[in-house]
Amino acid sequence: MLSSFGASHYKAADIQLFQGADLEQISALIAGCPVVRIAAQQQMQDASHQGGQLFVVLQGALDVTHVDTRDARLDGASVRVLPGECVGELSVLDEEVSSDRITARVDSDVLVIDAEVLWKLVDESNNVARNLLRLLSFRVRAANAQLRRRQKVGEFYRQLSMVDGLTGLQNRAWLNDNLPRMVENAHVVNSPLSMIMMDLDHFKQFNDQHGHVSGDHALQVAAKVISGGLRPTDSAARFGGEEIMLLLPNTPQASALLVAQRLCERLRQAVVFSEMHRPLPHITASFGVATLEPGQNAEALISAADAALYRAKADGRDRVAL
Ligand code: GH3
Ligand code: MG
Ligand code: MG
Repeated sequence: MLSSFGASHYKAADIQLFQGADLEQISALIAGCPVVRIAAQQQMQDASHQGGQLFVVLQGALDVTHVDTRDARLDGASVRVLPGECVGELSVLDEEVSSDRITARVDSDVLVIDAEVLWKLVDESNNVARNLLRLLSFRVRAANAQLRRRQKVGEFYRQLSMVDGLTGLQNRAWLNDNLPRMVENAHVVNSPLSMIMMDLDHFKQFNDQHGHVSGDHALQVAAKVISGGLRPTDSAARFGGEEIMLLLPNTPQASALLVAQRLCERLRQAVVFSEMHRPLPHITASFGVATLEPGQNAEALISAADAALYRAKADGRDRVAL
């Protein structure tokens, strides 16, 4: 029994930190530590200024929330601390001010152990030191798990921010991130990188005739046709309004030409107005093909594909040009 708590019904043996320790010795060491009562929903009195204190829940429950002083949106989820458990050991050990918000979930009794007493406990009881180490390793594991979860969520949003909302293809941000790297890699391993630039034909007219909603739908159909015709190593990105760029790693010009011709044909056969049974084609597109030349950078490759696309348009559209 720990009558020194000022609340004789609490047992030191129930406190994790004191497990296995000589309870007589512990009682003597913590004799001067106050037990404070915190009413439900009340916060521990400005814990950040006290710093360097360990709080042991004797009765009730505390909710501990990590507070991000710069951005409230980054505040962590709260962790419940139950009787026998403690909070605050990290700020004692590293002497950093705690940025945790500690709130009583229900009326709670809390034993407050200040840094000096905690160090004395560590010096004099191997078991307390051991329990503290175990507690820390638990905290480190929990923090690592949370970090991994956050990284996953972060990666999810990063991927999401690289996808075009209308077509589901990659977007310009993805291209800016990936194209220079792909170009560099192609040069390093001396592997042919081909690019196909596709632009829907007379799309302004299509919008004018059928409305913008049908235009959006046509773009989605085109994107589906394109992405359905690619190999897993190929990528498609929406380059601009109705322009789609395809990147074909490890693909020489002759093969890229065949891919473009196949896509051109499939687009001609693609059904946009399914309910109206209009004769095909509903949409067509023109394609410019370019293959990375020695010494060429990403911009130069885009210009080459663009120039080829211009030739396909000038030659009459609905076709492929080099
Ligand atoms: P060309 O055959 O020479 O490519 O003619 P075009 O009319 O397709 O070319 P232009 O670049 O002059 O016009 C592109 C049009 O594409 C203009 C714009 O209204 C339309 N467009 C661009 N983005 C979208 C989109 O997200 N949705 C819809 N519905 N239309 C779009
Ligand atoms: Mg166009
Ligand atoms: Mg265009």
